[in-house]
Amino acid sequence: MKIGVFGGTFDPVHNGHINAFAETYIGLELDQVIIVPTFTSPLKKQAGSSDSHRLNMLKLAVENYDFAEIDTFEIDQQEVTYTFDTLKYLREKYPDDDLYFIIGTDHFISFDKWKNADKLHELAKFTVLDRNDELYNVKPPFIKLNTNIVEVSSTLIRERVKTNTEVRHLMPEEVYGYIKEQRLYET
Ligand code: ATP
Repeated sequence: MKIGVFGGTFDPVHNGHINAFAETYIGLELDQVIIVPTFTSPLKKQAGSSDSHRLNMLKLAVENYDFAEIDTFEIDQQEVTYTFDTLKYLREKYPDDDLYFIIGTDHFISFDKWKNADKLHELAKFTVLDRNDELYNVKPPFIKLNTNIVEVSSTLIRERVKTNTEVRHLMPEEVYGYIKEQRLYET
């Protein structure tokens, strides 16, 4: 099987994330996508929301996609986990499958700084979502996936909620409802 792996803070999950994993599913003809929310240290937390809120929002967003599922490995560790360790865990869980780790260009640029960057390619095929404009020099062993990008970030959503600016169109309706109900990101 070809399995996509998509890690992130998802604070909150938004249409850019959903577009990213769904387009990769189509573009690479994947069988499944596993979404791995990061643990965030309560000490470092600023305007963000708790692990349980982030997970609840992710569940609401992902339940409509039968090819996608959430793996809480990183949150369960209760400490900051490196992609290297997460991929070792997934390699053991799915020994016979090909793993495709999905990243945006922001992470591609800083990839050299990741723990065991050189060894990461032995664990998964890193797939960089990029537009057609050839701005980034994505070369093997990275896979470049030309796709449309939905220009939205969690930072933008958090800032807009704080200033009471419209954000409804940037995420699934269920996630928007959850943010309003729980009054997330207001202060
Ligand atoms: P923040 O604004 O809080 O930094 P973010 O919107 O960048 O958050 P993350 O949870 O940090 O979201 O991102 C998880 C993964 O999704 C990363 O690989 C990131 O590159 C990718 N990503 C984030 N936003 C988009 C987008 N609009 N289109 C495609 N990929 C995205």
